Amino acid sequence: MNAAPTTVEIGDRFARELPELAVSWRAEAAPAPTLLVLNDELAGDLGFDPDWLRGPDGVQLLLGTQVPAGATPVAQAYAGHQFGGYVPRLGDGRALLLGELTAADGTLRDLALKGSGATPFARGGDGLAAVGPMLREYIVSEAMHALGVPTTRSLAVVATGRQVQRETPLPGAVLARVASSHLRVGTFQYAANSADVDVLRRLADHAIARHHPGAASAGNPYLALFEAVVGVQAELVAKWMLVGFVHGVMNTDNMTISGETIDYGPCAFMEAYDPETVFSSIDSWGRYAYGSQPSVAVWNLARLAESLLPLLAEDQQQAIALAEGSLGGFTARFQDALADGMRAKLGLAADTPDEVAVPLMNDLIAQLHQSHVDFTSFFRALGHGARGDDEPARGLFLDLAAFDAWLARWHGLNPDADAMDRANPVYIPRNHLVEEALTAATAGDLQPLHRLLEAVTAPYDERPGFERYAEPAPEDFGKYRTFCGT
Ligand code: AMP
Ligand code: MG
Repeated sequence: MNAAPTTVEIGDRFARELPELAVSWRAEAAPAPTLLVLNDELAGDLGFDPDWLRGPDGVQLLLGTQVPAGATPVAQAYAGHQFGGYVPRLGDGRALLLGELTAADGTLRDLALKGSGATPFARGGDGLAAVGPMLREYIVSEAMHALGVPTTRSLAVVATGRQVQRETPLPGAVLARVASSHLRVGTFQYAANSADVDVLRRLADHAIARHHPGAASAGNPYLALFEAVVGVQAELVAKWMLVGFVHGVMNTDNMTISGETIDYGPCAFMEAYDPETVFSSIDSWGRYAYGSQPSVAVWNLARLAESLLPLLAEDQQQAIALAEGSLGGFTARFQDALADGMRAKLGLAADTPDEVAVPLMNDLIAQLHQSHVDFTSFFRALGHGARGDDEPARGLFLDLAAFDAWLARWHGLNPDADAMDRANPVYIPRNHLVEEALTAATAGDLQPLHRLLEAVTAPYDERPGFERYAEPAPEDFGKYRTFCGT
C-alpha cells in the first residue's frame, strides 16, 4: 500500500488496544473509480481538503486502496442476535475500519468503508455493495444528522466500476462512513464469548474512554457504562419515534454503544401514522415495527447487560440484580425524552406539566392513527393553527368533531408557531423520492440525488421549488418494501 500524501493522520487505536477483535485487512482495488458524492462540510470537519479528496489520491483513500502511513485497516469482529437468533461470529464481512481521526471539535471519529471487498468475516458473501444502497445510506444518514438525530455520517460514495451481482448485475460502490465509533452491542457479545475476561474488560475500558468518560470515576465503572448506554439509547429511540423513523433491522450488531444510529439498510420513514409500520421485506412478523422499537431496544440492552455481567460484580446474582436495576431506567428516560420532544413539536412551553401534555399527545396520536394522517406534514399543518388558521390540519381528519375538541384543548395552551417550525421538519427522505434518486443515480443521472440532498439536509427550512419534497408518496406508489444486505 502506498502512503497517501495527506496531512490528516489516521490512527490505529482500536487495532492496538483490541487486537483480539481486529483482523488486519486491505480493501479490494477498484477498476474504474468515480466519486459520486462527497460531503464537503464533513470532510472539512475531519481536517481534509475536499479538493484533495476529489483528486486521484483522495479517491484512493476513500476506497481504502491507499492509506496514510500509520493507519492499520482492520475488519472488526462482532457477534449478534439477528431477529432473535444468536450468531456468535458476524463481523465486518464487507467493511473495514481505516482508523481514527481527530475532528475539528477535538473528538475522535472512526473512518470506515462499506463495500470494500470480502474479509475473513464474509461468510460466503461477496464483500461488495451496489451504488443504490450506498447512496441510500448517504441520503438517510445525512438527513438524520440534519434532523438532529445522533447518527453515523456519510463522507462519500465512490463507484468502483465493478459490477456487483444481485438479482441483476448492478454498479458497485464503496461508502466512506464516519462514526463516533463502530462499537456495538454485538462487539460486547463477541468479547464476552472469549475465554479471557481481560478482552471484555479492555473493550469496556475502551468504550468508557471513547464514549462515556464520566463512568471511569463511578463507584462501579462498568455498571455506569451500562447505564450510560441505556440512557443514550433511550434518547436515541425517542428521537426516532419523533421523526417517524423505522430502523428496520435492530439486531444487536446494529446497535451502537455511542448512541448513534447505525446501519441504514432496510430503514424508512413512516408516512401515515401506524405503530405497526414495517418496510423490511424479511421482517414478516413485524419484530422491528415502528411501535416496537422501544421494547426491542430494551431487549438488545438486556443482551448487553448479559455480556457485561462478569464485570459488574463477583457474585453472579448480584451482577444480575444490578443490571436489572439499571435497565429499568430505560422506560422513564425514554418517556421523558418522548414527552419533551412532543412538547416541542406541539409548540408547548417546556414546563407544561406531564399531566396536561401527555394525555394531549396520546389523544392526538390516537386520532392520527385513526385518520391515517401523514405524520411529518401534519405538524407543519398544525403550525398554521398556531398562527390562526386551523384549516390545513382540520382537512386531514375523518372525525372532525373529535379533532376540533382536541384543537380547543391545544389552543388553550398558547402554542408557539415559530418554535413548532424549528421542531417539525418540512422535508424528510420520503420513500418515493429516495427511490427516484437511486434509480436515476444507478442509471448515471445524479441530479435528483443532489436535489433531494438539498431538501433533506436543511429539513426545517421551507423553500419555494421544493414543494414535491414535502408531500407524501402518491397513492400509486403503493406499499413500500425495503431490503437488507444489498
Ligand atoms: P447488515 O445486515 O448490513 O447489518 O449485515 C449483517 C452481516 O452480514 C454483517 O456481518 C455484514 O458484514 C455481513 N454482510 C452483509 N452483506 C454482505 C456481503 N455482500 N458480503 C459479505 N458480508 C456481508
Ligand atoms: Mg450491520
